[in-house]
Amino acid sequence: MTTELYIDGAFVAPRKGATLAAIDPATEQEFARIAAGQDEDVDRAVRAARTAFDSGKWSDLAASDRASVLRQVAAGIRAQLKEIAALETRDNGKPLPESEWDIADAAFCFDYYADLAEEVAAKGVDQVDVGDPRFDSRIWREPVGVVAAITPWNFPMLMAVWKVAPALAAGCSVVLKPSELCSMSCVELAKIIHEAGVPAGVFNLITGFGPEAGAPLSEHPLVDKIAFTGSIPTGRKVMHAASLSIRNVSLELGGKSPFIVFADCDIDKAVEWILFGIFWNKGEVCSATSRVLIEKSLYPRMVERVAEEARKITIGAGDREGVKLGPIVSKSQYDKVLGFLDRARSSGARLVTGGGRPDGLPTGYFIAPTIYADVPLEAEIWQQEIFGPVVCINPFETDEEAIRIANDGPYGLAGAVMSDDLARCDRVAAKLRAGIIWINCSQPTFAQAPWGGYKSSGVGRELGEAGFHAYLETKQVTRFDHREEWGWYLDKGRG
Ligand code: NAD
Repeated sequence: MTTELYIDGAFVAPRKGATLAAIDPATEQEFARIAAGQDEDVDRAVRAARTAFDSGKWSDLAASDRASVLRQVAAGIRAQLKEIAALETRDNGKPLPESEWDIADAAFCFDYYADLAEEVAAKGVDQVDVGDPRFDSRIWREPVGVVAAITPWNFPMLMAVWKVAPALAAGCSVVLKPSELCSMSCVELAKIIHEAGVPAGVFNLITGFGPEAGAPLSEHPLVDKIAFTGSIPTGRKVMHAASLSIRNVSLELGGKSPFIVFADCDIDKAVEWILFGIFWNKGEVCSATSRVLIEKSLYPRMVERVAEEARKITIGAGDREGVKLGPIVSKSQYDKVLGFLDRARSSGARLVTGGGRPDGLPTGYFIAPTIYADVPLEAEIWQQEIFGPVVCINPFETDEEAIRIANDGPYGLAGAVMSDDLARCDRVAAKLRAGIIWINCSQPTFAQAPWGGYKSSGVGRELGEAGFHAYLETKQVTRFDHREEWGWYLDKGRG
């Protein structure tokens, strides 16, 4: 089976006929061929998106008309939830219940932005008080135009939908470029969008490699906004491409998020959330709380308890009943994580559990849940995003020390605090330099709440109202509303 690109309302083969392999990370076997688009295909898709946008056939529709089409998309996703989730698991390796969760969230996201588009339209235009009664000043919000959405492989469909749903709700046209490592669910998304009746050219899908498809898309002069989620090195290239003709850009990048656990917490809850914060989705989560700081009096007991529970996690192919940890997404990512583990041996950190391939799984890109304790703060595993099931745990003595260590580093995506003292949680939350803070939990994500990072973790916000306004331009329309002359050049009084 070979997938196709989706350009201007039609499923088509790439001009040069190139394909790439979809690999099941649990078996290491190819299970499909993906169309590999290149610059000519990107150019066709962007031109189709531009023409569709400029025609007004989607951008000029009433918000309620767009919303009803988006609700059809949501219904289409729900109708095929099981099939898409199974495909996502095969492509990415994540446990099936996690895929089902992701796909249900994707459907919800379309409904949420359909509702929000209608709500924002119903509020009407904002009137501005400019302090001069002779002027009437209003704010109009208009779709930003043609959006290039470039997305990663860790939540293949969901990360795409975080961009596509608000962009379409706002009236934009979109060219989506998913990750070459996991494109299958986005091909299904294109089919659902087609069936739902989104007009030709308004949504386009270009699967393919980053340098061959992502780069020409981010450099294309007819694109108005680039919405990117991925690694910092690629984000830098995308920001540079956007700077060439000064275009709107949003970046959702990596993280190395801290989880501060105070001794007055409920220990079972803390263990659960520490595990969920790093082993859910195999640790391939931008906001994973991969640096855990535990108050000293609780530290030895907590490290042992977390390790004991981590050893019980069922590892295997994502479609097997009861599996809670699937394989790493690809051979290259697997080798990258193993490289970190290899170098950690000489870092001075204490390996508590895991550290490599689990017993009994000779095939597939599996890594056992891995815990390091007593990690030197300058160690690579403490400093850098590993993007795998690897957590580093260290002790702290005072709130100030915990906050200082937590904020030390280039990232600022997320952070978590655990304590029964909620005022203390809020005090610490206020000091953490990150865009998402969880109190007494880690990772729950809601389409209604804004998402994005401080520092090198990104620029802009997705989700929530902010994630809708990210696809709108703001236009002020100011009218001189007075009968008297302006009287600067044409001084009629002097005749
Ligand atoms: P990546 O940067 O390798 O790839 C992301 C996308 O960019 C892919 O579609 C890729 O094909 C494309 N790309 C590659 N080179 C390009 C180029 N030169 N120009 C334009 N596009 C190009 O990232 P990844 O490995 O797919 O994803 C993992 C990273 O994503 C991690 O760092 C993770 O933290 C981050 N992430 C962040 C968030 C967030 O919300 N902040 C969410 C998920 C993942």
